[in-house]
Amino acid sequence: MPAPLLKVETSSTLPAQADVVVIGGGVAGVFSAYYLARRGLRVALVEKGLIGAEQSSRNWGWCRQQNRDARELPMSTKSLELWDTLAGDIGEDVGFRRCGLLYLSNNEAEIAGWARWRDFARTVGVTTHMLNAAEAAERGRSTLRAWKGGVFSPSDGIADPVRAAPLVALGVLKEGGSVHQMCAARGLELEAGRVSGVVTEHGTIRTKTVVMAGGAWASSFCRQLGIRFPQASIRSSIMAVSAGVEGVPDALHTSEVSVTRRGDGGYTLAISGRARVDPTPQQLRFSREFVPMFVKRYKSLAPGDLTGWRSGHESLKTWRLDAPTPMEHQRILDPKPDRRQIDDTLKRARALLPALQAAEVTSVWAGYIDSTPDGVPAIGEIDSVQGLVLAAGFSGHGFGIGPGAGHLVADIITGMPPIVDPVPYHPSRFTHASWGKVAEF
Ligand SMILES: Cc1cc2nc3c(=O)[nH]c(=O)nc-3n(C[C@H](O)[C@H](O)[C@H](O)COP(=O)(O)OP(=O)(O)OC[C@H]3O[C@@H](n4cnc5c(N)ncnc54)[C@H](O)[C@@H]3O)c2cc1C
Repeated sequence: MPAPLLKVETSSTLPAQADVVVIGGGVAGVFSAYYLARRGLRVALVEKGLIGAEQSSRNWGWCRQQNRDARELPMSTKSLELWDTLAGDIGEDVGFRRCGLLYLSNNEAEIAGWARWRDFARTVGVTTHMLNAAEAAERGRSTLRAWKGGVFSPSDGIADPVRAAPLVALGVLKEGGSVHQMCAARGLELEAGRVSGVVTEHGTIRTKTVVMAGGAWASSFCRQLGIRFPQASIRSSIMAVSAGVEGVPDALHTSEVSVTRRGDGGYTLAISGRARVDPTPQQLRFSREFVPMFVKRYKSLAPGDLTGWRSGHESLKTWRLDAPTPMEHQRILDPKPDRRQIDDTLKRARALLPALQAAEVTSVWAGYIDSTPDGVPAIGEIDSVQGLVLAAGFSGHGFGIGPGAGHLVADIITGMPPIVDPVPYHPSRFTHASWGKVAEF
């Protein structure tokens, strides 16, 4: 587990009814609940384990526009603005700061790709600076290496993954919503094709509107309602080292290893894109859809083991609403880290940044990253079930856009002008198998 995850108090009583029930206490769920509660709706947020304990606390904390797919860039820009004001709004420090993100490379094709992205970003008003060899060496001086070039995105930043989701959940409580941990939503009750209630392990909440923000569990939940949502997860392993190292950039990406300064002053170390593909029944079911993505990323992906099969988040089972479900058997998806990847990460980090040799390893962990076939999240009302809004499939970059995604969910539900064009995110693109190309980054 990434330690220490900030814990929040659970509301004691499950409400009999709510305007909206949000299922899932990761960034997608807490921000949805927060922006809905701010608009005066009675919101109940249910989480099967602890707020933020799955992907939303296991990530690097990058909130970036840099290298975003064109479909996600507007949401990313809006999210950064929302991160800017969040601490003032909720009265809590989520560790967000626009420290800028630094990318360094000796690969000319990679540098050329960043330059192309810079040219595109300019057309939508996003500034990023290409670095020549001298500038890259200067910004990357803690590596003690020469670089052919790089890029620095000054308006991007990082937030603290172990604090963000729990503190936004506190914001939900302050806005009059309720938060229920250790409370799995087993399924929905429908009347004439419309949501009429959410059945949880602790009772039923009557409601006409539900947000399914269950991260890696979303597809199996949707399947209970006959909704086809192609989703697959990969297992990424990651680690943290102790505080006390100075001179290392706050957020640095290289093809060998990436480092991010943590809220406690230590550093998170990871190899970008590297992960294991653990076969699961769901992954086999949707394998045809995921072939283009896996082919594109094949250099970084390696075959995994039965860890994912056993954890049950991607099973094809149907379950009853009056008996414990797979979500109650697996309160927190906490897969075992890949030892080989962890050892490799530490070796590369210490070779790249000699100052890290003095730092001690404080924790290692893994996380399942849930993805859609095109690498763009699915956000929008499900055509076949009125009142059900899906917000999942954030494809490894959902932490930074959590605020924008939650805001969009609230816009859709309240009928307000959407914060960004919702069309690229609509889940119906998967029912018609007509989604666009796989996201570049
Ligand atoms: C190693 C790693 C590094 C990453 N780095 C970055 C990064 O730097 N920047 C970035 O933007 N993104 C990053 N990501 C991706 C990012 O963490 C995710 O996209 C994002 O956190 C997804 O949020 P979520 O709310 O959709 O899912 P989650 O955080 O997984 O939350 C889903 C929640 O729903 C709950 N749940 C599921 N089903 C039910 C149910 N039926 N009833 C009740 N509760 C339920 C689960 O318990 C879980 O807590 C990274 C991810 C990983 C694993």
